[in-house]
Amino acid sequence: MTDALFARIVDRRDDLVALLQDLIRIPTRNPPGENYRDICELLERRLSASGFTCTLVRAEGAKGDSDTYPRWNIVARIEGPRPGPCVHFNSHTDVVTVGEGWTRDPFGAELDGDRVYGRGACDMKGGLAASIIAAEAFIAEHPDFAGSIEISGTADEESGGYGGVAYLAEKGWFDPDRVQHVIIPEPLGTDQICLGHRGAWWAEIETHGRIAHGSMPFLGDCAVRHMGAVLNAFEADLFPAMAARHTQMPVIPDGARAATMNLNAIHGGERAREPGDTSLPACNVPDRCVLQVDRRVLVEEGVDAAADEIVKLLDRLKESRPGFDYEVREINRVIPSMTAEDAPVVTAVRAAMTDALGRDATFVASPGSYDQKHIDRIGRLKNCIAYGPGILELAHQPDEYIEVSDMLDATRVMGRTLERLLLD
Ligand SMILES: [Zn+2]
Repeated sequence: MTDALFARIVDRRDDLVALLQDLIRIPTRNPPGENYRDICELLERRLSASGFTCTLVRAEGAKGDSDTYPRWNIVARIEGPRPGPCVHFNSHTDVVTVGEGWTRDPFGAELDGDRVYGRGACDMKGGLAASIIAAEAFIAEHPDFAGSIEISGTADEESGGYGGVAYLAEKGWFDPDRVQHVIIPEPLGTDQICLGHRGAWWAEIETHGRIAHGSMPFLGDCAVRHMGAVLNAFEADLFPAMAARHTQMPVIPDGARAATMNLNAIHGGERAREPGDTSLPACNVPDRCVLQVDRRVLVEEGVDAAADEIVKLLDRLKESRPGFDYEVREINRVIPSMTAEDAPVVTAVRAAMTDALGRDATFVASPGSYDQKHIDRIGRLKNCIAYGPGILELAHQPDEYIEVSDMLDATRVMGRTLERLLLD
């Protein structure tokens, strides 16, 4: 049974490459979030012809949606003749900006040996194409399957997923009564199952001061010096405390198993001078200073506790340091998400990997985040992983590519996973 499915998948190699090329040739750069409707229509034509019922959903009113750049998504569903669970493959259709340093046409989808080049080849149009071929081959081999298969192509993952998976989850598309297993074919490598990701808390911290003439700073109150006190407290207390905390999650790389915080940007006082600006600076004591932080949160910590820890540190400074006052503005929060190692979708993909590739899976978790957060928090669906072809390090790089053999391996694992979940 499995061998017959694998043979069908190998037969579809050229089709897999052609499908990926068609997907890459629609530049779905985000920002601004362009051509989402076009890529949804391509997927609609393809999946309708394979027997799926397709629904195009615009994320009306979601963050990022506009009439100029509408956030279109597609959900395609096919039901087998017998009842059973629904396996959902979710891929984002957006790609990041091209950037410098390319030696290939970023939207040319050039096939060179075993590689297909282009922006999004690896992250993650290769995974999307693989899931489609896996589903089509499975349906052809087992037309009497139990349950249903869904394939979605969603917008805006690269900018938080609000016009994509978050919107669909809010509208009930990921409710556990209609979807039971979710696989997100992000490029984690064909041997790895990604169980989830760390959380995040992005915020601005502002310290206040009082403006005065720079020749008499004692008449004012310097907001930058107050921020210096914040940074000192971070170095003395917060960073060591975070570094001592380690998660049980299999986050890669190793350094990301501790709680971390990046200081993205800091600014106080007059606007920074542009290169070549020959004007003289104004002599003012800065009355405000703003620090932007990116705190990554372990599943054992939780976002509220991570934010509270920083607020408590600022409150202590307020008590001990004359004139110190602050504001904290949250910019974004992402819950950490972790699927259990013995969840049904994990067990199925792991066994399928052994069947298809003869290898056991390595469990990993992502230091950043991806759309699993929305499926978990809004959709309340805990049976979700990322598994897909491609080398994560190539994502967002110049000359991004994916190997066709890697895609075929992942396609076989996905097809075998469907056999394990949707055949009695
Ligand atoms: Zn991605």
